[in-house]
Amino acid sequence: MRVSILGASSGIGRPARTTSFLLDDHTLIDCGTGVGSLEVAQLLRITRVLLSHSHLDHCGFLPLLADVHAGHAGPGITVYSQQATLDAIKQHLFNGVIWPDYTVTPSPENPYVRLQAIEVGDPVALPGGIATALPAEHSIPAVGWLVEGDWRALAFSGDTGPCPAFWQWIAHVPSLSDVLCEVTYDDDHLPQARRYGHMAPSLLASLVDPLPPAVQLWISHLDPGEEERMMQQIRAVLPPHLHVERLKAGVTIEL
Ligand SMILES: [Zn+2]
Ligand SMILES: [Zn+2]
Repeated sequence: MRVSILGASSGIGRPARTTSFLLDDHTLIDCGTGVGSLEVAQLLRITRVLLSHSHLDHCGFLPLLADVHAGHAGPGITVYSQQATLDAIKQHLFNGVIWPDYTVTPSPENPYVRLQAIEVGDPVALPGGIATALPAEHSIPAVGWLVEGDWRALAFSGDTGPCPAFWQWIAHVPSLSDVLCEVTYDDDHLPQARRYGHMAPSLLASLVDPLPPAVQLWISHLDPGEEERMMQQIRAVLPPHLHVERLKAGVTIEL
């Protein structure tokens, strides 16, 4: 399976785009502004969205993706997330005011947006692999995702503060090759990181010990314009043997 990073920033401002990863050509993890870089034919091949949570930088382009399917007789999309997240996007996005309610259009039996509730630990079968919802600790209900291909596995933290259950879970995945973890705040803003359920460099450093040494760690959700300063701060506090890179649009990871 090929994971193509379409966006991995916490906000916009060219060239930054917000979180969206494409698995082969059929599945998205999150539907931030990154998905807007795809062509219509590519958008119509997407039939699943694994959604981490209902904040706009992760789900804001979902209504527009649904609109492409509605306008081009596409197959529609199944959105997998926790019930609280599905309730939020139904109530606040697909409510007939902000956007048409594609969860009942063109018919309630066969809508363009199908909502499928999952809980932490639930697997979602994919062509060429499997995705499993992982625990997260954010300001609202949220999950991360584990994606296992034929040979390798990728873990994505979603938006989260320190969540020991996430790190214990992925440390027991033998094929784990890549970990995509958010870092939103610098260490001068630890109270904000704790209050809003985000990571900071020193918080990340306290959690990475269980990772096997060969794992590649990718840092996502950096503030546009602050990437280099943040990466320097992160590298300064992480164990030197860890492979750390900044996750950005254009990166591809083979599983
Ligand atoms: Zn969030
Ligand atoms: Zn976010």
